[in-house]
Amino acid sequence: MIFRLVSLSLILCFFWGCAPNKIVFKETSSNSPAHQPVPPLTTDQLFGLRNPHGMISDPESGQYALREVMENYLSLKEKASQNGWHLILVSGYRTFYSQRRIWNNYDKSYENMKSLSEKARVRAIMSVVSVPGLSRHHWGTDLDISEETLRGQLVKIQPDTPKKVIQFYQWMEQNAPQFGFCKVYLGDRGAVVDEPWHWSYFPFSRVYAGQILEIRNFSKIMDIKVARVNYLMKNFPFILKKETQSTNIECLADGKN
Ligand SMILES: [Zn+2]
Repeated sequence: MIFRLVSLSLILCFFWGCAPNKIVFKETSSNSPAHQPVPPLTTDQLFGLRNPHGMISDPESGQYALREVMENYLSLKEKASQNGWHLILVSGYRTFYSQRRIWNNYDKSYENMKSLSEKARVRAIMSVVSVPGLSRHHWGTDLDISEETLRGQLVKIQPDTPKKVIQFYQWMEQNAPQFGFCKVYLGDRGAVVDEPWHWSYFPFSRVYAGQILEIRNFSKIMDIKVARVNYLMKNFPFILKKETQSTNIECLADGKN
């Protein structure tokens, strides 16, 4: 009997993932999308070193995401078009290697600022791009979404931001949560500053975010081709804390997805 219970739990683990701090979903809103079981991701997949299984692409941009994530994005896009907005998916799934390229390019942009300490340089890079291996874009759950008015640009809200752009972000805040998406980077916590374009499919990403915290060995992402890797290694507990603290805790609240 005990053996049967163990095997049953192993089977359930296989389908649902076994993160000890896995959060059980609560369906609190009639608008919540119907969730499939969370696709299990291995550590290599969480790090972006291997593609998650079963991703599909957005026909317009060619960007990839997990099937349920993309289907909800396309439904959101359909609703947006009925309201006069044309969503543009700028970035979906990213591999470790594409994240490394972005990270290294930002690092290079600080090349001439010799007075900047290494700590300040890493913090500056981390405010705009996640450390390769720790990006939420590795999970196939997170999307950078722009709009035709913005010509596909990812823009922050500034005092001189055109009214139409602000109206678009407001529309997204009112509508994206009905399709499972939450705006994870508010800019007042952790490393990443405000990113009004970055939307995370929380029914899945909340689980993967918990699984990242359970990983004890990050040596695979300490790649010598990553700029500032020695600094990252030396300060890794702090780096990890900063990255994982960036998330908007309101996304975890009931009724948000
Ligand atoms: Zn993003």
